[in-house]
Parts: sequence; C-alpha cells; structure tokens
Amino acid sequence: MGTDGVVDITILGAGPSGLAAAYYAGHRDASVRIVDSIEQLGGQVAAVYPEKNVYDVAGHPKILGRDLVELCAEQGLQWGAEVHLGEEVQTLDRISENGEELLAVTTSAGTTYLSRALIITAGHGAFEPRKLGIEGIDEWEGKGLHYFVREKDVFRDRTCVIVGGGDSALDWVLGLQDTARHPIAVVHRRERFRALESSVNEAKELESQGRVRILVPCEVREIRGDGHIAAVTIENVSTNEHFDVECDALITLLGFHSHLGAIADWGLELEGKRQIKIDPTTCETNLPRVYAAGDVAGYPGKITLITIGMGEAAIAANNAVAQIRGEKVQPKYSTD
Ligand SMILES: Cc1cc2nc3c(=O)[nH]c(=O)nc-3n(C[C@H](O)[C@H](O)[C@H](O)COP(=O)(O)OP(=O)(O)OC[C@H]3O[C@@H](n4cnc5c(N)ncnc54)[C@H](O)[C@@H]3O)c2cc1C
Repeated sequence: MGTDGVVDITILGAGPSGLAAAYYAGHRDASVRIVDSIEQLGGQVAAVYPEKNVYDVAGHPKILGRDLVELCAEQGLQWGAEVHLGEEVQTLDRISENGEELLAVTTSAGTTYLSRALIITAGHGAFEPRKLGIEGIDEWEGKGLHYFVREKDVFRDRTCVIVGGGDSALDWVLGLQDTARHPIAVVHRRERFRALESSVNEAKELESQGRVRILVPCEVREIRGDGHIAAVTIENVSTNEHFDVECDALITLLGFHSHLGAIADWGLELEGKRQIKIDPTTCETNLPRVYAAGDVAGYPGKITLITIGMGEAAIAANNAVAQIRGEKVQPKYSTD
C-alpha cells in the first residue's frame, strides 16, 4: 500500500461540483487532491451527455456539456491540484500523524491518500451502464459495442444500431444524422418511446425519408461478427419474428446503475437512500471535517442541478478551509 503526502483537502469525484470545490479550495490557498473512479474529468456531464447543450448554468446561455466541463477543469485545476483518475475510493479511516488527526482514504489501486478534510462530490456514486441481457456481452466492448456517445466522429460513416427508448437514444438518433450512415436503426422493446414527443416525431419524419429505421417492439437477441460487430439479430417481441440488421456500431443507451458503494458504509448519515445528509449552511456531514456537495449531498428541498452543486462546493471548500485553520468562515472574493 502506497502512502502519498498530506494535502489540506481530498475531493472525491471530479464532476462539476468536485472541480468547483478544487477551484474554491485552491483560491483559498489550500492544497488539493482529486480522485475519480473513471478515467476522465467531468462526471456525468462528460460521461453521459458531452454533446448535449446545457442552458441553465449561470453565465452560459447555451453551452455543450463537453465545453462546460473543459472550462470547469481549466478553472478548477489552475492552482495545481493533484489529480488521480481511474481509482475508486473505498475506505475512510482516521489516523494520527505528528499529533495531527488526518483522514485517510484508500482506493481500488491500493493507494492511501491523507488529508485534513474531505469533500465528497460523488454524484450518484461510481456509475456503470445498464447492459443488454445477452450472454458474453462484455466481450464486444471495444469491438463495436458502445455505452456512450462521447465523440460523434467515432461513428462517422458507421452503420449504427441504437438501443433504448428514452431521451438519450432519441437524442443520438437525431444527433448522429450528420455523422453516421443512413438509416440509423433504433430498437426499443416497447411500442411507445419514453423520449420527448418532439424528438419521437422528428425521428418518424426522418424514417419517412429513409434516414431512420424504427424497430419496435423489438429486442436485440444476438450479436454477430468476427473480431468486430457486423450484425445483430433482432426479435419482434409481439410476432416473435427474428431478423438480422447490419451493424458495425451497437450503441446501447439503457441508463445507468449507480450506488454509493463503499461510501455508504463509512458511518455517514444518509438523506433517503442515495444522498449524504449535510447541513446546507456548511455542507458538513455528521463526520467531522467530511463535507459533501453536488448531487450526492442531501437536505430537504435539495435540487440536483450543476449550478446548485457548484454553490455547495464553494460553501464546502470555504468551511473546510476555515475549520482546518481554526478561522472564521469568509468568502474572500477573487481578485488580481
Ligand atoms: C442526461 C442528463 C442531463 C442533464 N442535464 C442537466 C442540465 O441541463 N443542467 C443541469 O444543471 N444539470 C443537468 N443534469 C444533472 C447534472 O449532470 C448533475 O447535477 C451534475 O453532474 C452533478 O455534478 P456532481 O459533480 O455533483 O456529480 P457527478 O457529475 O455525478 O460526478 C461525480 C463523480 O464522482 C465519481 N465517483 C463516484 N463515486 C466515486 C468513488 N467511490 N471513488 C471515486 N470517484 C467516485 C464519479 O465517477 C463521477 O465522475 C443532467 C443529468 C443527466 C443524467
């Protein structure tokens, strides 16, 4: 087990709230370390909807998810925070070192990180895509099976089959029109889509032009190919008819499983099943010097939006800094 140096604040989660906390902590001259279980910065925004427009973050009338988190990273990491990606935080302990009580988090990489305070910005927890119930499905990862559309260009001139009935599926049936080969097939197990009616109507209009193929009520039963996906076998679940559809990019957009995982066993008081209870005036949890902000933090009336998480991150960072230094909480405006 490796032991790294002590920093003032460890931030668990590099989504918009974690990056905002890194900014505010650095702005107050605190040393910061960020740890995230996925290999990229930006949390849900980067992983789930990088090419969706976001309209409700203050100061950005309209901004692509990807551009927003790039700016969050530029702002959040400007003070030189240490960043560790691809490591899931699993345990929290308290240790004593040189007469100081420190928080020690240990990750899936077996590394222990020490800090004086911890800000948990874990969103919905380390999340994982829901997968098709086909035996051996994991073997197709990296061979044409995708759980996200991160970069449209990956699908340029590809024959795409998109599986799902919600907004993400319909958004990408429409969003890949200028990139993927036509028709883009969309497979949904029910007759009716859950997605926004206007998106469904637009997809139907595109179907009449031969640019989309809507396959309902249908399910993918088999994936075939030699080293890479070449076709999928689909069953119409009302007629039991089976047929093959050419496919070199199978994009399954079936939502995510997420859970707090090991964090739920740390003795943190929870708000409902999925959030850590905080005092919204300080963002502190029931554990001393452990704060939470963003989607993971709960209190009556909480709204899970980017802008709210960023505000809580500023409260958490300022309170953590004040507590570490034994000072009064002060905002300290940004200035040259
Ligand atoms: C499809 C969709 C569209 C949305 N559109 C909007 C919108 O238009 N406007 C808006 O304001 N909000 C929107 N939201 C909500 C918004 O994305 C969230 O409020 C925001 O991402 C919360 O940020 P966060 O930093 O708190 O958490 P997240 O973005 O979830 O980031 C949490 C990070 O913590 C990491 N993590 C979790 N557990 C661990 C662990 N144990 N160890 C290490 N790392 C861990 C995760 O991997 C993740 O990267 C949308 C959400 C979705 C799903």
